[in-house]
Amino acid sequence: MGAVTTLYHPTRDELAEHLTGEPRYRLDQVWDGLYTQLAAPADITNVPKALRERLAAELPMALTTVVRRVSDHGDTVKYLWQLHDGSRIETVLMLYPDRVTVCVSSQAGCAMACGFCATGQAGFTRHLTTGEIVEQVVAAAREARTMGRRLGNVVYMGMGEPLANEAAVWASVERLQGAVGMSARHLTISTVGIVPGINRLAERPLPVNLAVSLHAANDELRNELVPINRRYPIDQLMDACAGWLAAKGRRLSFEWALIAGVNDRTSDAAELAKLTRRFRLPAHVNLIPLNPTPGYPTVGSTPQRVAEFHHKLVDLGVNATVRRNRGTDIDAACGQLAAGQPVTLTAPRRAD
Ligand code: SAH
Repeated sequence: MGAVTTLYHPTRDELAEHLTGEPRYRLDQVWDGLYTQLAAPADITNVPKALRERLAAELPMALTTVVRRVSDHGDTVKYLWQLHDGSRIETVLMLYPDRVTVCVSSQAGCAMACGFCATGQAGFTRHLTTGEIVEQVVAAAREARTMGRRLGNVVYMGMGEPLANEAAVWASVERLQGAVGMSARHLTISTVGIVPGINRLAERPLPVNLAVSLHAANDELRNELVPINRRYPIDQLMDACAGWLAAKGRRLSFEWALIAGVNDRTSDAAELAKLTRRFRLPAHVNLIPLNPTPGYPTVGSTPQRVAEFHHKLVDLGVNATVRRNRGTDIDAACGQLAAGQPVTLTAPRRAD
């Protein structure tokens, strides 16, 4: 089945092609309806009905809701969507007192095979299109608006590896900035550490933030936790991060999922501090106690160990925060998105 062009896929110029023969102002009306009013074509009522119907037929919505689950007293909403080819993806909307953030998927599944991540356990299905990524944000923004809130932040931390699908991801960044009116400074792309992708991002004009899923500060352990490290080992990755920082001057953060007995020892904290010093990387470390996933036997660090690890980093001069978990009860937390796919069990790792 070929790619389907969906409602939020075309650029403004491409949308104009769907409006040939119409007065020029129609383009403004439809674009504004889609991106400012966040309306479906049928609801863009200043446009004639026949045109609305034609657009709806030519440019179908990409996402069909399968399940919508709510947690944290309504402050976390997880959507399970079905795409045209039957693949499924998830999106998570998070409401905080001071901001609203959506976590979007960039691929159906993921090929990176990190054993502790439910998406990695399920494997890769396909890349998402720009339209499929943008529509996740629009759907979340629409829901936030019904709650009287404004969606301001997007994190590319859902299913998939954004920098393995960089072109579509970047086109979505441009659309969110240009059409939805989001600040690029409020968009964060998270990567497992695809070095050419980070270099490519350094050349891109908009000032997005970069998060790198580090989880280990030596190659032996990182090869095991994050298999792509064999291709892009830590030194190369840190060089790319330094290059990105020099080019962009935007916020760089390292994600560190704390796994009991695996990467939560005091020596791990010391090693991480040494690494950031060696590469002179003023990065912010986000500590996330490992969330449970069906295919990984090891558990997250205890709250006490998390606090100790945190304090050790801070003592060593590393900027670090503990990230509060959202939506664990609805499998909406970091690393738990699998869209109902079966997962492959990995062998337990010995905690030595
Ligand atoms: N592929 C990209 C985008 C996914 S972001 C990346 O790896 O950065 C999802 C984040 O959650 C990553 O930092 C990932 O390493 C982390 N993660 C995966 N499984 C997890 C788990 N079980 N508990 C906590 N964090 C997890």
